[in-house]
Amino acid sequence: MGLMIPVRVTVAVGRKNVALEDVQNQKVVSALRQASRDVGMSLANAKCPVHDKGPTNVRLHFDSAGAGDLKYDSCCEKLGEMIAKLV
Ligand SMILES: [Zn+2]
Repeated sequence: MGLMIPVRVTVAVGRKNVALEDVQNQKVVSALRQASRDVGMSLANAKCPVHDKGPTNVRLHFDSAGAGDLKYDSCCEKLGEMIAKLV
């Protein structure tokens, strides 16, 4: 069992991107918070085989259709390959 990696969540509201904390609709907030938790749990198991590092500065953006776009900083493309398999 790994630790959860913190995920910063933003949501498209109209033409603006707002932090999940600033979204008014609590149903949306709890659904997206759960989704970001799932991502954070999965990413906790992602370690680069070369550098033994996980992703940092993890961001998850949901567009107005509810599709999530994951971004993060990684040490190298090997970590990106690991994450692509996990998420
Ligand atoms: Zn690496």
